[in-house]
Amino acid sequence: MLLQNLLDFDAARLTAWFAESGEKPFRATQVLRWMHRYGEADFAAMSDLAKSLREKLPARACIVPPLLLAARMADDGTRKFLFDVGGGNAVEAVFIPEAGRGTLCVSTQAGCALECAFCATGKQGFSRNLEVSEIIGQLWQANKALGRDPKGERIVSNVVLMGMGEPLANFDNSVTVLRLLLDDNAYGLSRRRVTVSTAGLIPAMDRLREECPVALAISLHAPDDALRDTLVPINKKYPLAALMAACRRYLEKAPRDFVTFEYVLIDGVNDRERDARALISLTRQVSCKFNMIPFNPFPGSGYRRSRPERVRRFVDVLARAGIVTTVRKTRGEEIEAACGQLAGQIRNKTRRGARAARGMLEEQRS
Ligand code: SAH
Repeated sequence: MLLQNLLDFDAARLTAWFAESGEKPFRATQVLRWMHRYGEADFAAMSDLAKSLREKLPARACIVPPLLLAARMADDGTRKFLFDVGGGNAVEAVFIPEAGRGTLCVSTQAGCALECAFCATGKQGFSRNLEVSEIIGQLWQANKALGRDPKGERIVSNVVLMGMGEPLANFDNSVTVLRLLLDDNAYGLSRRRVTVSTAGLIPAMDRLREECPVALAISLHAPDDALRDTLVPINKKYPLAALMAACRRYLEKAPRDFVTFEYVLIDGVNDRERDARALISLTRQVSCKFNMIPFNPFPGSGYRRSRPERVRRFVDVLARAGIVTTVRKTRGEEIEAACGQLAGQIRNKTRRGARAARGMLEEQRS
């Protein structure tokens, strides 16, 4: 019999799974706590479970996160974790420490099907959706690697589904992950500390609003359909006017009273002052903040980062219109952990991938 990986379940499913073998719901709560609160993977160590259950479980179930291949830390404290998810695929999670919080950015797919023009993951194509255990397992492994702060609290206080892949294209698994993040018996994060980032899959945004509203970020990147069609091709299916309307609907149920628009600034492509002015009228009806991301180049991208002076002018235009705008510090660049640089697929470039992983492991040891 195939072992059931219990990291694939949220509380409801774990309860149902235990019920099938006649176990009471509180057993599910106990196991959930051991797995997620304490990071325990060994049933034998779950001391408050009935001994008979502890002995029975290993024959039916396992607790298996994705294998951590390598971890690297940048000078600014940003850390990148590389995971093997089998079949030659690797995915990445990035930990970003900031004053008063620590954010983990996790991947939801191996590769991505959306083919955004400026994104390294998009260039690799789509491989497959990640399982719940492979997504929540990135946090599980990061928590282990990061340890606890002096007060005994976990270091990761915020989680963003903003790594490789499109979370809303892996909807069911992403929502199960969100439920675990919010569950007091698992990670107990508030809805405001959990963010889903999407290129704008409108029907899935509407479902998320009903099923599990958390903070929302939209990868906007262009002020009009003509340009956005070329940068974020999913725009041809879900154009801007409809996207703005979907944002307004989402805000009715959202834990924060704004959506965050992400905007990658690409030299000479979308960074003109008139683009900024067009953004103001586009987003007039939507309560929002802007997060500008200087483009992170990668080999063969064909794009350049906007110059600081242009970034400043662009931000000034938005700020003068009263839109709260932040410019994301580019972090972890030297470890290729910056936005859009995550490209962990080893298949078809096995030697290169293996070399990269080896390089990371060596650094880790040194
Ligand atoms: N598919 C989701 C989440 C993954 S992308 C989404 O589109 O939101 C996470 C963020 O990184 C998005 O805003 C994406 O547009 C941005 N990004 C992708 N490539 C980038 C690059 N080369 N430089 C800077 N940001 C990039």
